[in-house]
Amino acid sequence: MNLSREKCAARDAADGLAGRRALFDLPEGVIYLDGNSLGALPRAVAPRLQAAVGEAWGRDLIKSWNVHGWIDLPSRVGARLAPLIGAQAHEVVAADSTSVNLFKLAAAAIAMRPGRRVIVTEPGNFPTDLYVLQGLRDLLGDRIALRVVEADRIPDALDEDVAAVVLTHVHYKSGRLHDMAEITRRAHEVGALALWDLSHSAGAIDLDLNGCDVDLAVGCGYKYLNGGPGAPAFLFAAERLHPALRSPLSGWMGHARPFEFIDEYEPGDGMLRVLCGTPPILGLTALDAALDAFDGVAMADLRAKSRALGDLFLDLVAARCPNSGLQPACPLDAALRGSQVSLSHPDGYAIVQALIERGVVGDFRAPDILRFGFAPLYVRFVDVWDAVEILRNVMTDGAWREPRFSLKAVVT
Ligand SMILES: *Cc1c(COP(=O)(O)O)cnc(C)c1O
Repeated sequence: MNLSREKCAARDAADGLAGRRALFDLPEGVIYLDGNSLGALPRAVAPRLQAAVGEAWGRDLIKSWNVHGWIDLPSRVGARLAPLIGAQAHEVVAADSTSVNLFKLAAAAIAMRPGRRVIVTEPGNFPTDLYVLQGLRDLLGDRIALRVVEADRIPDALDEDVAAVVLTHVHYKSGRLHDMAEITRRAHEVGALALWDLSHSAGAIDLDLNGCDVDLAVGCGYKYLNGGPGAPAFLFAAERLHPALRSPLSGWMGHARPFEFIDEYEPGDGMLRVLCGTPPILGLTALDAALDAFDGVAMADLRAKSRALGDLFLDLVAARCPNSGLQPACPLDAALRGSQVSLSHPDGYAIVQALIERGVVGDFRAPDILRFGFAPLYVRFVDVWDAVEILRNVMTDGAWREPRFSLKAVVT
């Protein structure tokens, strides 16, 4: 294969997104391939947080809810997320965590399909998604059952008992991409709703929720959206569902008139009704600032670069790390893969630790997956070259065999 570092540098020089990297504060000497777990720090975040803390909170205190528009931040940030996921501005709000939002929308889906008791999902889905659905099932007792079926059998598992199919668009471990349009269409054929978790898609993949006729979606703010650790997540509901949409967490911020302090709950307008408690203003401010990095970016360009980076990584590993025992554990076809590459190796944990020590930050997912995420806003083609070169060195000199690399930390 005719690959070289010079050719990678030439691709960077021709890359229309290359300038976006300067918007991020990346540490020297680190190749960061874990933006799918915690996005890098956008330079816009610190000054905006400084202003929100120093001027708004510090000086204007409680007036800030009005004068700095704090109260509208969930909708404002939602409206900025909408074009990234192919939704209308009023169909998205930012709030709570992905786990909590999934609970709200899965419960809402069940309520909108009375008489149907089944939720379809897949084994090996991201754990929180399964745990939240199990909790909902335990809460609702006989009213719902989970039908957990392998990905390729999902279309066959859809029938008139199904209220909703709840899937993660890009699988966190394998990087496999579901066919959102097709599964949503099949769900609608039997009268079920489609609820998608976009945690590993939003900010890296050109999503078209409205084009795919998606009903409901949730997603994460701290992965490819770069909102910072524990950033607020988001919720989407198609406009046609808004009148029937009810959140089981009917808190005061989702009330039609929260500052009238009346006893009876009445759902707020549109997506405001899925809000629950007081919005986390500092977290929303950081996410809002982080989204500046997407201004003017065509998601199709972002996706094209994400595919190219993943393909390059796979090609280089095949060419430069033969006989290393590293096997691809993700689809080789970029059209079927999210913005990550997964490799398997029985000593994956130790290899990832040895790579991190040499400045290549990926992560490990039990039992044997090495995961490398390619955030197209700030990862360069030369980074991919250099990362594979370091991987090749680690595999040939066997550095990862040192016992210290096998000591497990709490967070992998
Ligand atoms: C990252 C991720 C989450 C995160 O949920 P939190 O509530 O933020 O911890 C949920 N679902 C999927 C599929 C994810 O990848």
